[in-house]
Amino acid sequence: PAPALRSLLDGLDPEQRAAAEAPGGPLLIVAGPGTGKTRTLTRRIAHLVAERDVPADGFLAITFTRRAADELAERLRDLLGERARDLTVATFHRLGLLILREQHERAGLSASFGIADTARQLAVAAEAAGSEQEGRRLLSRRDAGEPAAGGADAAYERRMRELDLVDFIDLVALPVRLLDADDALADRYRRRWPWISVDEYQDVDERQYALLRLLASPGGNLTAIGDPDQAIYGFRGADVGFFLRFTEDFPGAAAVRLGRNYRSNSAIVDAAVQAIAPASLVPGRELRAVGDFTDPPRIGLHTAADEQGEASFVARSIDRLLGGTSWHSLDSGRVTGDGDGGLSFSDFCVLYRTDAQSEAVMRAFNTAGVPYQKRSHDRLLARPGVRMLADELARRPDGPLAERVRSAVALLCDRHADDEERCADLRTAGELVLPLAAECGRDLGEFLSALAMGAEVDALDPRADRVALLTLHAAKGLEFPVVFLVGCDDGLLPFRLPGEARGAAGENEERRLFFVGLTRARRRLYLSRSRRRTRRGTPYDTAPSAFLEAIDPSLTMPVDEESATRRRPREKQMRLL
Ligand code: ATP
Ligand code: MG
Repeated sequence: PAPALRSLLDGLDPEQRAAAEAPGGPLLIVAGPGTGKTRTLTRRIAHLVAERDVPADGFLAITFTRRAADELAERLRDLLGERARDLTVATFHRLGLLILREQHERAGLSASFGIADTARQLAVAAEAAGSEQEGRRLLSRRDAGEPAAGGADAAYERRMRELDLVDFIDLVALPVRLLDADDALADRYRRRWPWISVDEYQDVDERQYALLRLLASPGGNLTAIGDPDQAIYGFRGADVGFFLRFTEDFPGAAAVRLGRNYRSNSAIVDAAVQAIAPASLVPGRELRAVGDFTDPPRIGLHTAADEQGEASFVARSIDRLLGGTSWHSLDSGRVTGDGDGGLSFSDFCVLYRTDAQSEAVMRAFNTAGVPYQKRSHDRLLARPGVRMLADELARRPDGPLAERVRSAVALLCDRHADDEERCADLRTAGELVLPLAAECGRDLGEFLSALAMGAEVDALDPRADRVALLTLHAAKGLEFPVVFLVGCDDGLLPFRLPGEARGAAGENEERRLFFVGLTRARRRLYLSRSRRRTRRGTPYDTAPSAFLEAIDPSLTMPVDEESATRRRPREKQMRLL
C-alpha cells in the first residue's frame, strides 16, 4: 500500500500544486498530454473537499466519456472515501439527462421519457418532413444546429414529445432552452453546483458551451482543463475556439500551464512536439519528459509489404516483448508494464485512424492467439446488434439485465443461426453492453438511456488482460506502456476520401489526431505503415504519411522482420552458451 499522504496535494509538482490550490473563480489549465491535467483536477477537488471544507455536493465534474467519468469517480473515491458519493461526475449528456429528469414537465415529457435511437429518430423525422430523404436532411441540419425549412423542425419536435421521446441532441439542447427561458431555474442550478470543472474542454461544442454559460455564474468557480493541440472532434461539431477564448468569456480567469510530461519517455515527447509544431495552437508550447524511464529512447519505424504483413508485425512484436526476448536493438533491455513486473496483454494498445484497419489486426491476433478488446468512438447504437438487443430487452418482462442480455444474445443468435456475420455482431454487442447491464441492475430505463448515450469506448475494460484495439479518437486521455500506431500512410493519416485533394481543410485536425496517438505511449512506440493496401478488393500503392517527416530521424529507428529473423538463431545460441 502507498504511504499515507500528509496532504492531498503531496505528489504534485509545483506547477500542478499551484493549479490544484488556485483560489475560486474561473481557472484555465492548459497543458500538453501526459502533464497530469486529469490527476491535478482530481487532487484539486479532493483537496477542496477534504482540506478546505467545501461541501462535496457543490461539485460538478464534467468529462468527455462515461469511461472517463467512471475513472474520475473511482479516483475520487480512493481519495475521499464515502464523501465522494456526494460529488456529481457526469458527461454532458448525462448531466442533460439529469436536468431533464428533474424538469421533465417543463419540457413536455413524462417522468419516464425515453431516448430515441437513430432508427426511431429517422422514422419520426421522415414523417415530419414528408420523405425519408427530407427526414435525413432535417436530422443533419439539426445536428449542425441549423433550422429546417418550412416548420418541419417544429413538427418533428411535437411528434417526439407526443411519443415521450428525446433525441441525443435534445439531451443538451432542451436543458439549454429551459434554463435560458427561466433565470430563476438557472439560478437554482447555479447555486446547486458552485464548483464546475470540465476536462477536455478543447472539444466542447456550441450546445455544451451554452449549457456551461448558463450553469456557471459570471466570475464563478469554473475550471476548464485541456489542450487545444488535442482538439480532434471538430468533425462532430466541437469548436476549439471556445477554449482559445476562455479568458475573454470568463473575465478575471487565471491561466495555469503545466510543462512536465510524466507519461512518456523523452523520444516520444520530443517526437510528439516536433510532429505537432507545424499546426500547434499553443504558441511557445513547452513539454519535456520528466518520467523516470530506462528504456532505450527510440521510436520503432516499420514498413511492411502489405496490411497483413503490418498486422503480423504487431502480433509478433507483442509476442516477443511479452516473452522478454530482444529481437532488434530497439528492444534490447526489458520493458516493464504498469504493474512494474513484465508486460501483460493489457499493457499494449494498437491505434488506427479508421475502424476498418482493425480487420487485419484482428485476423493476425486470432491466428497468433492474442486476446484483444476492440473499441471505436462510435455510439453504441450505431451497431445493429446493440439496437437488436435494446429492442429485445425493451419488449420483455423485467429481471436482472445482465442475465437478460446474455439470454437475448443466445436467443437472437439461434434465430439467425444461418447468418454468421449477424451473430458475430450480436456477440460483440453483448460483450459491449454487458458491463452497463450489470451496472444498471434491473433498471431498464436507466440501461436504455445509458445505451443511447454510450460510445463503444465506454465499454473498454481496464482490468481485462487483453490488447486494446482503438481508433485514435477513442484513445483520447488514455495511456499504455506499449503503443503501435498502424497505417502511417498518406491518405490514411491524414485521412482523405478517394479523390479528395491534399492539404484539405481538415488536415490540421488530422495532425492533432496523430499527436494524440503518439502521446498515448509510455515506454515504447512503434509507427508502422504498409507499402500496398487494398480498398474494396483493389490493391494500390501508398506513400508514407507526411506527418512522419516532422520527426527527427535521430529519434527513430527502423525495425524490420528480416533483421529479426536473422538475429534470432544467434541469440538462442548465445543463451545456450
Ligand atoms: P492527456 O492530455 O493525455 O489527457 P493528462 O495531462 O490528463 O494527459 P494524466 O493522465 O493526468 O495526464 O497523467 C499522465 C500520467 O502521468 C499518469 O500516469 C499520471 O499518474 C502521471 N503523473 C502526473 N503527474 C504526476 C506527478 N506529479 N508525479 C508522478 N506521476 C505523475
Ligand atoms: Mg487527461
